[in-house]
Amino acid sequence: MKENENLEAARENTGVDDQIKELAALIKDSNKTIVLTGAGMDTESNIPDFRSKDGWWRKMDPRAVASIDTFYQNYDLFWEFYKMRYNLLQECAPHRGHYILAEWEEKGLIHGIATQNISRLHALAGSKKVYELHGNIRTFRCNHCHRDASVEEYLEKKNCQYCGKKALRPKVTLFGESLPADAWDNSIREVQSSDLLMVIGTSLEVYPVNAIPKMAGGKTAFINNEDRGRDYHFDVRIKGKAKEVLSKLDGILNEME
Ligand code: NAD
Repeated sequence: MKENENLEAARENTGVDDQIKELAALIKDSNKTIVLTGAGMDTESNIPDFRSKDGWWRKMDPRAVASIDTFYQNYDLFWEFYKMRYNLLQECAPHRGHYILAEWEEKGLIHGIATQNISRLHALAGSKKVYELHGNIRTFRCNHCHRDASVEEYLEKKNCQYCGKKALRPKVTLFGESLPADAWDNSIREVQSSDLLMVIGTSLEVYPVNAIPKMAGGKTAFINNEDRGRDYHFDVRIKGKAKEVLSKLDGILNEME
């Protein structure tokens, strides 16, 4: 690294550290903090996000495959995609950042997590109040008669044991479908009545969840590893990785106790 680049990196780090301190103070002052997470929260647990498509399975656009159109038009491809994603998840575990959010809930520092992630890593880390805006990939049902199916039935590509249709699917919200009403209504209510909304690891591209930050009733903060959401107002913007930023915030909050 050249001298100029070193200076630039040092300057950027100082800026980030100041922003992290600013966010720690907001968390401390807030009586109600809600967290909104996206796929970037899980990448450090080795679950790829949808943004960087280069390394994706069969070089396909995951957003096109994870759709209700693909379910109807190419069930085999849909089934294989979610089988791959389910199997991938078996090798993944929550990282320190997920555990920190669970600890903060326990300590009363945050009051709920609305997530676009289907991984259930927040719940696995111990978070109790989690609103799964896009469902989860660990439970399954029949798309035709809506009755539950087991993971084994899905992985073996069985027909539904009740109605006989080849229509088993994970209980996720596909592109082209509506979000679960309960999770959506609860998230909106919580976000509107919050003093602080922390948004972590989302490209803010997927509708309607990308409308949530604009509904915040109080201060807002954005943590992302790239420069995103420039058309949003955030009181604090932190460019960095979720695990590292949450760990630093946790250190500062512990010192403030
Ligand atoms: P996205 O892939 O569109 O965007 C992820 C964002 O997080 C990007 O801006 C990326 O730069 C950033 N990011 C990546 N790693 C990060 C890190 N370590 N720290 C901070 N930021 C990081 O994801 P989205 O906005 O959540 O929307 C994608 C859709 O795909 C959602 O519907 C979601 O349900 C689904 N999805 C979920 C998972 C999961 O459950 N983990 C994974 C992939 C996709």
